[in-house]
Amino acid sequence: MVKIAKLIDGNRISKDIKNEITEEVKELKETRDFVPGLSVILVGENPASKVYVGSKQKGCDEVGFKSETIKMEENVSTDDVLEELEKLNKREDVHGILVQLPLPPQINKAKVLEAIYPDKDVDGFHPVNMGRLVAQQECLVPATPSGIIEMLKRENITMKGKNATVVGHSEIVGKPVSLLLLNEWATVSICHIETGDLKMHTIDADILVVATGVPYLIKGDMVKEGAVVIDVGMNRITRDKASRELLEWRKNDFETKGATLIGDVDFLRVEPKASHISPVPGGVGPMTIAMLLKNTLKAAKNIAGIK
Ligand code: NAD
Repeated sequence: MVKIAKLIDGNRISKDIKNEITEEVKELKETRDFVPGLSVILVGENPASKVYVGSKQKGCDEVGFKSETIKMEENVSTDDVLEELEKLNKREDVHGILVQLPLPPQINKAKVLEAIYPDKDVDGFHPVNMGRLVAQQECLVPATPSGIIEMLKRENITMKGKNATVVGHSEIVGKPVSLLLLNEWATVSICHIETGDLKMHTIDADILVVATGVPYLIKGDMVKEGAVVIDVGMNRITRDKASRELLEWRKNDFETKGATLIGDVDFLRVEPKASHISPVPGGVGPMTIAMLLKNTLKAAKNIAGIK
C-alpha cells in the first residue's frame, strides 16, 4: 500500500494568520484609533520585485494596515536611498520598513539594510535583529524562516529532541531557520553547496528543510521514512526544460501558463516516504507574506508600547 503524506497547506495556515491579524487590527482601530503602517522602498523596474511588492501591498490592504510603496529610479545612489530611509525611520505613522531586494549593483546593500531602524526592520535582515536572534532575545525574525516554524507548530510537529537538517545556508532562509530550529531544541545540521555527502545528512533527518533553488536536489532515497519535509525552493520550469513526467503532472500549468513552479524536492518520490510535506506552490510561499504582516503588527505594537 502506498502511504500518502499529510500535505502542509500553507494557503490555509496563512489565511488563518491573516484572519487573526485582521481581528487584532480591527480592535486596535476601535479601541485606540491606532493603525499599523508599512512602507516599502522599491528601486528600479525588476518585474519580479514589482510582483512581490504588489502582493505585500495587497496583504496590507487585506488585514487593514496602512501601506505605501516608495518607488525610486533604477539609477539612484546609496545616499538617495539612505535619505529616504531616514525620513521613514522618523515617521510616527510608519512602523515597518522594508527595502525590496535585489537592489541595483551601484547600491551598497549592507549600508542600506543597516540604515533601517532595527525596531522597524520587518524583514529582520538588520545585523542587530540577526544578533538578537542568535542571543535568543526578542527580535524581528525574517518572514520565510519564521513561517516555517509557524507551520510546524500549527501542524503540532514536535521539534524538541528531533534531528533537523537544513539544506541551504543563506541569510534569508537557511541560517535563520537553523537558529530557530535550534532555539526549539532540535539538533541541527546545516548543509550547503560545499557539503561533501549531502545524503549522509538528509537521511537521518526527522525534519528536513530544503532552501537551495536547485530543482530535484532531494531524491527519494535521501529521505528517511516518516520525515517531515519542508520545501522552500521556488523554481519556475518552462515547457522546454520540463521532463515528460513533469509535463504530465502539471499539464494544466503548461497549457495555461507555459510553465510551472516546483520546489527543490523530488515531490513524487519523496511524498510517499514523508509523514508531512509542504508542496510547491501552496506551502512555504504563502506563509512569507503572512509572517511579514505579523512582523509589522508586532513592530507597531512594540513601538506604540501596546502589550
Ligand atoms: P541562496 O541562493 O541565497 O542560497 C542557496 C543555498 O543553497 C546556499 O546556501 C547554497 O550553498 C545552497 N546550495 C546550492 N546548491 C546546492 C547543492 N547542490 N547542494 C547543497 N546546497 C546547495 O538562496 P535563498 O535566497 O536561500 O533561496 C533558496 C530557494 O528558496 C530559492 O529557490 C528561492 O526562490 C526560495 N525562496 C522561497 C521563499 C518563499 O517565500 N517561499 C523565500 C525565500 C527564498
